[in-house]
Amino acid sequence: MANKKLIAVSACLLGYKVRYDGEHQTNEKIQSLSEFFELLPVCPEMEIGLGVPREKIALYQQGLMTRLLICGDKGSIDLTEKMQVYAQNFLKVHNLAGMILKDKSPSCGVDNCKQWLATGEVNSTGTGIFAATVMRLAPELPMLQSHLAEQQSELHAFINQVKCYGY
Ligand code: SF4
Repeated sequence: MANKKLIAVSACLLGYKVRYDGEHQTNEKIQSLSEFFELLPVCPEMEIGLGVPREKIALYQQGLMTRLLICGDKGSIDLTEKMQVYAQNFLKVHNLAGMILKDKSPSCGVDNCKQWLATGEVNSTGTGIFAATVMRLAPELPMLQSHLAEQQSELHAFINQVKCYGY
């Protein structure tokens, strides 16, 4: 039997307790895709050296740039470049045919993440830095945001895209 195609999945969706609060966000529909594909868990925040539990990080708009910051008692730490480099290396190392990423995360979220504006207001139109870097470097890679897995049509469309990817 041919090898299954490889899909990277936000590790919290596969039951790994890697969220900032030490919890997971298991999604059984996504887990069940192991019937068709090899699922590669990835938690970009853990991979850039943040532990569990950890301070929450968030997206901040600074001029034309979106930055990924920890804002804690001791000031802010900018993780943007570190996350971008990690995403770039991740794509180089793995021969992926798709990716499923947890929505709303400032790292993994595709297009519905909270983003703080210079005015102090917040909107929900940001893209997480890991997801944004992958989408910039591999725009053709099939990508599914986790909440869309609940919609059969979206899930089937993603499965078909992965099956066709690379042919
Ligand atoms: S959303 Fe992404 S960064 Fe956050 S815990 Fe899940 S895998 Fe890690």
